[in-house]
Amino acid sequence: MKIFFLDQSGKPGGAELCLLDVAMPYKNHGLVGLLADGPFRELLEQHQIPVQVLTNQAIQVQKASGLLQSLRSSGTLFTPLMKAVQLSRDYDLIYANTQKALVVGAIASLLTRLPLVYHLHDIVSPDHFSPTNQRIIITLANRFASRVIANSHASQKAFVDAGGDANKTTVIYNGFNPAAYQVASTQREHMRQELGIRDRFVIGHFSRLSPWKGQHILIEALAQCSANVIALFVGDALFGEEAYVKQLHHQVIQLGLQERVHFLGFRSTIPELMSACDLVAHTSTAPEPFGRVIVEAMLCGCPVVAAAAGGAVELVQPDRTGWLVPPGDSLKLADVITQIQANSERSHQIAQYAQIRATQQFNLATTNQQIAELLQVIVKH
Ligand code: UDP
Repeated sequence: MKIFFLDQSGKPGGAELCLLDVAMPYKNHGLVGLLADGPFRELLEQHQIPVQVLTNQAIQVQKASGLLQSLRSSGTLFTPLMKAVQLSRDYDLIYANTQKALVVGAIASLLTRLPLVYHLHDIVSPDHFSPTNQRIIITLANRFASRVIANSHASQKAFVDAGGDANKTTVIYNGFNPAAYQVASTQREHMRQELGIRDRFVIGHFSRLSPWKGQHILIEALAQCSANVIALFVGDALFGEEAYVKQLHHQVIQLGLQERVHFLGFRSTIPELMSACDLVAHTSTAPEPFGRVIVEAMLCGCPVVAAAAGGAVELVQPDRTGWLVPPGDSLKLADVITQIQANSERSHQIAQYAQIRATQQFNLATTNQQIAELLQVIVKH
């Protein structure tokens, strides 16, 4: 099967890292079209996945854009749309992986009569999208998509609650290659030494720096924990959240935590870094569509505490495979961190069980098989 994948971002967020895995089996007869250039294009090339950047003009529509801004920016979609129409004619199916990709993919599907699949990696709700953008997603998906792959039941429910056609949806969780998360204990010790964190209790936070990812909540919690607890923030501001980054640095100084908080920037060695941590914290203040970092921590055998909303609730079984705390509740988070620190044997057992469960439940081979079967049905139809 020949698939034309579409994604709006040149930067590797969770949706893009998922697409990397989904597109891999089709690399000999597929193409990824991007609506922006950047490190994600390089990552695809490193994996020998054919990729073309469809425009060199930035598309201004943001998730929070209103109707006027969306209309004003619609002209910037013309070039990538024409390219997508021209390129997709050689393929059997268009696979839109993000919201702007859905806009381009839907029109291309109308003009080429190719079937369209939309992989939904978002919670379609006011927490994440303006009313205009919610309407655009729902209208285009209902009208043009043969199927909508939701990355969690939470994403599926939000889509349906916003007016999306429930009959078109299938929930398929992100898949992972468990072997990629096996890190030798010698490597773990080496990493801890390199980071200068050997005798500390280390909490890792792996996410782009963005207000709704709640890095400030972990900093608040850290101030309530004992002095040997430190936090590593792995990730960068990917989508223009520089003001938030400044705010985080200011908060660290105000709370006198300079020695206990380290910002490592964007890293591509996630398994090595996670394995070096004693705990991974996920602190999103709005419902997380899926939460790849939660599964990745489990696969590394690292205990994980997550904010109880959206997809995170489907990934963590409280006190069996991890811990859940109310979103935005830094006191409760500090309390759970202290408990985990005090009871390392129990938390180790929980992390071990989580590793086994995650290996079974979020296996890339299985999810790619599910997607392949779904696409076969559509193409044959
Ligand atoms: N990630 C990464 N480098 C970083 C920070 C994060 O590769 O410095 C990865 C992380 O391992 C995860 C993804 O980015 O696979 C984030 O996905 P998630 O679903 O947690 O959040 P999203 O970006 O989709 O909101």
